[in-house]
Amino acid sequence: MLEVTVRQRQCVGNGCCAEIAPEVFVMGDDGVAYVCEDGRVLPGGATALVPEHLADNVLEAAEECPAECIRVALAAASAVPRARAPA
Ligand code: SF4
Repeated sequence: MLEVTVRQRQCVGNGCCAEIAPEVFVMGDDGVAYVCEDGRVLPGGATALVPEHLADNVLEAAEECPAECIRVALAAASAVPRARAPA
């Protein structure tokens, strides 16, 4: 599963992300984007888990963001465990 964060300080507020993935990105009254999780808008700088069916849209939004302020990463819980180093 992916997780996503918006760096509000860099956001230029063009609304592109909210058009591509409105379930995950919303524009705040202050004119910048925030992420949502389970329909709840999270505070600035917060990280939201992205439901599998929205992953492609979130990746597209990150690619299209003109300010490159959308960070997408693999959520820790879904990361593939690393093999243990030999002793
Ligand atoms: S696409 Fe990027 S710059 Fe535009 S509103 Fe979304 S986060 Fe902000």
